[in-house]
Amino acid sequence: MNILILGSGGRESAFAWKLAQSPKCGQLLIAPGNAGTSQYGTNVNIGVNDFAGIKQLVLSNNINMVLVGPEEPLVRGIHDFFLADDAIKHIPVIGPQQEGAQLEGSKDFSKQFMARHNIPAAKSQTFTRETLQEGFEYLATIGLPIVLKADGLAAGKGVLICLSVQEAQQELIEMLTEAKFGAASSKVVVEQFLQGIELSVFVLTDGSNYKVLPSAKDYKRIGEGDTGLNTGGMGSVSPVPFADAEFLKKIEDRIIIPTIEGLKSEKIPYKGFIFIGLMNCGGDPYMIEYNCRMGDPETESVLPRIESDLVDLLSGVAEGNLNEKQLVISDKIAATVVMVAGGYPGEYLKNKVITGMENVRGSQVFHAGTSMDGDNVITTGGRVLAVTSLQDNLFDALQQATADASRIYYDGMYFRKDIGFDLL
Ligand code: AMP
Repeated sequence: MNILILGSGGRESAFAWKLAQSPKCGQLLIAPGNAGTSQYGTNVNIGVNDFAGIKQLVLSNNINMVLVGPEEPLVRGIHDFFLADDAIKHIPVIGPQQEGAQLEGSKDFSKQFMARHNIPAAKSQTFTRETLQEGFEYLATIGLPIVLKADGLAAGKGVLICLSVQEAQQELIEMLTEAKFGAASSKVVVEQFLQGIELSVFVLTDGSNYKVLPSAKDYKRIGEGDTGLNTGGMGSVSPVPFADAEFLKKIEDRIIIPTIEGLKSEKIPYKGFIFIGLMNCGGDPYMIEYNCRMGDPETESVLPRIESDLVDLLSGVAEGNLNEKQLVISDKIAATVVMVAGGYPGEYLKNKVITGMENVRGSQVFHAGTSMDGDNVITTGGRVLAVTSLQDNLFDALQQATADASRIYYDGMYFRKDIGFDLL
């Protein structure tokens, strides 16, 4: 089977690494990919939103399956684009159609979906420029802190946590009337703050059957001790130690099954991954958000724990017989440390030569923001590498991943040395 992966981050590197291990994987293309993905397949310099270019690529390389890494092409309708074109409609796309992708593309849609299917979530209401006054009244009733969410995709920046009603009012004005997050904040979800510990659970579904993939916890802040600015993700751990069998059963019964059944009953086709972001509030799971794809860097911790053939599982998604496929998950613990560029998540250094990767001993290095410059691998993105170690216990996994990250060097290199230590 010839497979095309769309994307260029650590998540796509992990997918390429895993798919390339399958005896069923023929030609593997990654568009656009990075310096690391070319170890497992062939990079093609076509962007993830260039649907016409992707069509040509798929046809000229006899591609049999397309795996979409990031959310943007899904929310823009790449799956629908394939289905609407006689030349490529037979080629399965792993990732939902536009309607299902609204679970991530519109916070308002996803909150309404949760409400319709009695999925436990924070209390919320949605406001527009026209209902700003009602919004102000609601802010005064909801308790502090107050969570404001831009409805649309805002590159991970559209969520604000406000410590006072005044601050929330000001932000609401800026979001709704001054387009603080562009068109994404023309609607704003005002939400109650959930107190608890966050975790993520991933589901693979063919729209009818599903498999629950390993849980993971990610670390979003740039600084040690969870301080400083938010980032795309500085590390992850899988599984999450406090997500025991009883808690996972609650998640399955209260969230996963109602989600799959809800999609089915509303006739929303969905073939792909569902990222379920949760808060553990005193032993009960509450939804924070859906994403319509795998997380990054959670994928780099989750995939190394999947022992089964991923091509086989994705074929089950495509063919609608996921229930006949086997999912075997390793008991080992995975820890991922993300190495970033100096200055990230602000203005960051670029084009720095990376050395020392050959000294890594007990980890898998997944490339994220890297490119080739002659024979050198150079940094081109904010998140540069994801270093994952799989070990018998969490302490060893964390120590190995951290030690291996220290063996790699580039000017301005930074990574957190405390990933996962809160879980020990
Ligand atoms: P989201 O884009 O919805 O995942 O929100 C980004 C982050 O904001 C989440 O990962 C949480 O850390 C935080 N967050 C979002 N909604 C809430 C909430 N209702 N209560 C507490 N924290 C939240």
